Amino acid sequence: MHDLIVIGGGPAGMVATVYAMRQRLNVLLVTETLGGKTEIRCEFPGIGETSVIRGRQLVDRFKNEIAYLRIAHRLERVSRVERRDSKQGHPSFTVRTAGGEELESRALIVASGCSFKPPQMPGAGRYLSKGIGYSALSYAHLFLDRTAVVIGSGRRAVRSALQLANSARQVYLLAPAAGAPPDGTPLTEALGDLENVTVLENCTIDGFNGDEYAREVVVGLPGGRQPQHVQADGFFVESEAEPCSEMVAGLVERDARGYILVDSRNLTSQAGIAAAGDVTTVGHEQVLVAVGEGAKAALSMLEHLLERR
Ligand SMILES: Cc1cc2nc3c(=O)[nH]c(=O)nc-3n(C[C@H](O)[C@H](O)[C@H](O)COP(=O)(O)OP(=O)(O)OC[C@H]3O[C@@H](n4cnc5c(N)ncnc54)[C@H](O)[C@@H]3O)c2cc1C
Repeated sequence: MHDLIVIGGGPAGMVATVYAMRQRLNVLLVTETLGGKTEIRCEFPGIGETSVIRGRQLVDRFKNEIAYLRIAHRLERVSRVERRDSKQGHPSFTVRTAGGEELESRALIVASGCSFKPPQMPGAGRYLSKGIGYSALSYAHLFLDRTAVVIGSGRRAVRSALQLANSARQVYLLAPAAGAPPDGTPLTEALGDLENVTVLENCTIDGFNGDEYAREVVVGLPGGRQPQHVQADGFFVESEAEPCSEMVAGLVERDARGYILVDSRNLTSQAGIAAAGDVTTVGHEQVLVAVGEGAKAALSMLEHLLERR
């Protein structure tokens, strides 16, 4: 029986694991990948390495420590978590992996992040991470006096356009036919006021052109109008993310989209389970946020275990 199992090896899960190891807990990290989204790298033309603090640099120390200690981690997908109660009424948890293993633990941290569907647009695959990326929030400050395109129809896309508009000379929000930005929300109203934002609604994304990087998107317009060619320095696909929380569905409280509800100490509605990072309702998808939340979750689970010793 482990003291603690951490599910997910992104920044939140890696930091939680290292904190727990330093507190001499018998901890196991179960994760599909080590590094999480910090392994994804986006490059934009004219933006040098020195302009960016890469998430990867921030977490490499933690990653090396875990990678070195092979007994502390397992590269596997978790499919389900179940609760068991001891005779004394203390909960413990069975973590089932896709490989059919059953791992037992007194406490759990869910740090499984959220996933994005890869863009299904003609020509996008060729330029993914080369001019086409996600996470406008992470790169917005680098678009000073540049042009950026945001592709998406939901709240996330509108928010990304706003973030980019703070720095960029011109922002295009391309809202595909599947649905226009939610009218009447404060964000959409704010977009309407900005002179450097152009919204093209009910459009189709017909292709990308470029060289080493994507430089241009071909936008199909409704009403039989001529397609528009929009040139930009970066293209952000900002579709809604999906929290990877199915393995604890029914065990912890989640919001309508599946994000795990946590309190200010990262505790969930289930005693013995904490959650951290992008999988939670905390939001603000940033490495530094995930790192801090992971540390908090580990300390909260340490307290939980000490109180029940
Ligand atoms: C393209 C891109 C660029 C970004 N650039 C920056 C940046 O420059 N700066 C910045 O601060 N932020 C950046 N971000 C955001 C940042 O990467 C995330 O906020 C951060 O990685 C979240 O950390 P996390 O640990 O919560 O989740 P993640 O990093 O998503 O890690 C989740 C982990 O859980 C694992 N997992 C998922 N499901 C399961 C399962 N069922 N079983 C086992 N393991 C599972 C995954 O394999 C992964 O290892 C970027 C995001 C993207 C998408």
